Amino acid sequence: MRIVLTGGDGFIGKHLCQRLHKRGYEIIVVDNNITSKEENYDLSNVTHYKEGIETFDLNKLDKVDVIYHMASIASPLVYKKDFNNVYLPNVKGTENMIELAKRDDAQLFYFSTSEVYGSLSPVDDLQNGIVENHESISHLLTERSIYSTSKKMGEELVNQYLIKGGKGVIFRLFNVYGPNMDTVNPGYGRVMPNFMTAINANDPVTIFGDGTQVRSFLWIDDLLDALELIQKEEDLPHVLNIGNAEPVSINDLAEIFFKLMNNNTGITYKTMDHDDPIWRKPNCARVEECIDWTPKVSLQEGLKILLNKF
Ligand code: UDP
Repeated sequence: MRIVLTGGDGFIGKHLCQRLHKRGYEIIVVDNNITSKEENYDLSNVTHYKEGIETFDLNKLDKVDVIYHMASIASPLVYKKDFNNVYLPNVKGTENMIELAKRDDAQLFYFSTSEVYGSLSPVDDLQNGIVENHESISHLLTERSIYSTSKKMGEELVNQYLIKGGKGVIFRLFNVYGPNMDTVNPGYGRVMPNFMTAINANDPVTIFGDGTQVRSFLWIDDLLDALELIQKEEDLPHVLNIGNAEPVSINDLAEIFFKLMNNNTGITYKTMDHDDPIWRKPNCARVEECIDWTPKVSLQEGLKILLNKF
């Protein structure tokens, strides 16, 4: 089987590449390495193209069977400054990957995000009508919303392809974590590597807002297990949430890290952006109905493994 990994040098991409390589598949990584480093895999059967997926010439590829389209900047602190490299891979790059999937009748798996849900409550303003600065609208026109809208646009494109009989699934991932996150920008990325880097340096961790915002974190191997099972299925729903419904506030997360690292370095609170989602917890009933899967690794277990590898 020949498998394309766009963004294959990123955090999820590297783990997926190693898992698929173990299975003996031929892998093609396409990654512009803007927020990742090219992996010196020392793996046979892995070909690497350091290119943007939006301009990648499909003629370079022989027939492929599966496409995992992950390419995108994913760290809010980075994509707020570099919106082009969110829009291009998720919209133009997705168009290109749909062309490839059509050409080869390949399965197309698009990596979207829980971010598409924003922080919204249901529209409750029917009586008064919706105003221009209604929360649901204002959340669309922020520095951060380029990410969710680009991902959503990618979803729409893939969905059109699936409606017309294409094979594949759109995944909405909820805060996946594991070893080797943020290797290019340590301390300038996601909350877990930031906390570990700070505590390790005996610095206080930074929390944006009052720390009551909630996230649900999914251990990387649980994600990989789900992906493997899904790839073998046919006739799946177009969109699947994949996450671990074990919510934790960012304050509690900091306390868990202090305890596990045996070093309470304190907390510095900074202003939170108004578009930082305050609550995220997946409902995974749909994916759990489709495949024999539930997350196996609890947050406590996952953090212990993470810290052992830090
Ligand atoms: N966060 C934080 N300190 C950090 C990094 C992140 O308080 O050093 C907060 C961030 O504002 C958000 C939550 O932790 O509310 C999760 O952030 P992350 O970037 O890991 O994921 P996402 O916001 O995409 O869910």
